[in-house]
Amino acid sequence: MEYKLPNLNYSYDYLEPYIDSKTMEIHHTKHHKTYIDNLNKAIKSNLNLSNKSLEEILKLSKQDIFIKNNAGGVYNHNFFWNILGKNYKINDISFFIKDINKYFGSFENFKKNFTKVSLNHFGSGWIWLCISKNNELIIGSTPNQDNPLMPDSNIQGIPILGLDVWEHAYYLKYQNRRIEYIKSFWNIINWKYVENLYNKNKK
Ligand code: MN
Repeated sequence: MEYKLPNLNYSYDYLEPYIDSKTMEIHHTKHHKTYIDNLNKAIKSNLNLSNKSLEEILKLSKQDIFIKNNAGGVYNHNFFWNILGKNYKINDISFFIKDINKYFGSFENFKKNFTKVSLNHFGSGWIWLCISKNNELIIGSTPNQDNPLMPDSNIQGIPILGLDVWEHAYYLKYQNRRIEYIKSFWNIINWKYVENLYNKNKK
């Protein structure tokens, strides 16, 4: 099957002023698109992959760095656009907030931990909130386009929230100020979508 660049559920300027329109447009039509095109190329030259789902490809991908980077890039960006939105309040998500409080003490503490991991992550990569194999909520980061579904990832689990900390995600507006980008991120999370992922995947 051929992968296609998914449409966003919102316009490029929808997340302004937190993420600027130009960044969204380039991120979607250039960066994300390149991962899609490369994954399609990889599938064409490796017929074993053509009948596999994207999740299955991620699980196999440690054998081939080109497939790993591009399948990760496709999965991570598909995921990222879906967890972004506006006007969602964490307090409206009562079931999820209960478990956030259980594992992190409070929502503020969760935010603090997630922000710390985001700042400490060196170079490009992603920061994740995951359901671990023990069914707990955990925070961790992955380099490049790795993600927690890959068997060789240093954090293992099912992602329910993710933040792209590649400079392409924020450099036009924030330059080297990753902290300001992270602060903005908290205003544009689709908590309803995150909670649905949590409910669907929690055992
Ligand atoms: Mn990106």
